[in-house]
Amino acid sequence: MSLLPGIFSGARHLLFPRLCCGCQRPMLPEEKLVCFICARQLSPTGFHHVPLNEAALRITGRFPMERATAFCYFAHGGLIQHLLHQIKYRRRADLAFELGAAMGTALAEAGFLKGIDALVPVPLHFRKEWKRGYNQSERIAAGVEKATGVPVMAHLLQRTRHTESQTTKTAAERALNVKDAFRVRRQAGFSGKHLLLLDDVLTTGATLEACATAILRDIPHSRVSIATAALASG
Ligand SMILES: [Zn+2]
Repeated sequence: MSLLPGIFSGARHLLFPRLCCGCQRPMLPEEKLVCFICARQLSPTGFHHVPLNEAALRITGRFPMERATAFCYFAHGGLIQHLLHQIKYRRRADLAFELGAAMGTALAEAGFLKGIDALVPVPLHFRKEWKRGYNQSERIAAGVEKATGVPVMAHLLQRTRHTESQTTKTAAERALNVKDAFRVRRQAGFSGKHLLLLDDVLTTGATLEACATAILRDIPHSRVSIATAALASG
């Protein structure tokens, strides 16, 4: 009996091959996010091995932070941009999960998750989440949880107001746009915990700063670290 699920998943693979998001060719069962050839174009940063990295330097000094990393470099026209576009606008929540799993594996191997008690995805406003069907940061966090066993606390933070898109704003406008846009919904049991804030892209860090500020203000003795799937040019 225990063979049956394997046989079914094998047959399913033959009948409905999953296509690589990068090159559209059928993927092998062991290929997860993209095929092995496309995976070479993902440009991993390796930041989680280096405490003083570009992601950490971009946000350091703005709020008390333990450590920060970004998994891949974001290049315009590159594969990670394509993946994030599919995730945000083409309902590919599965890709967000696999991206999170790949990221979680890399972070765990580097020891970056040592002492982290829980993963906290940056929340979307409920209207935006309803429109998209899911919160991409929460799906990335679910992938990290699957790969590492560190639990996701998806509803610890709440976005209390809808904010305009950050994409065309300057750094100062971005900071003002998201200031006080988040609150901690549930503090009980999180006092003294080390929380890893997760988001899809780090640009100026304004959103992450607003989230971290809410956590550090509302949860006594909490500590915050940061991880994003991609680092955009700030
Ligand atoms: Zn491919």
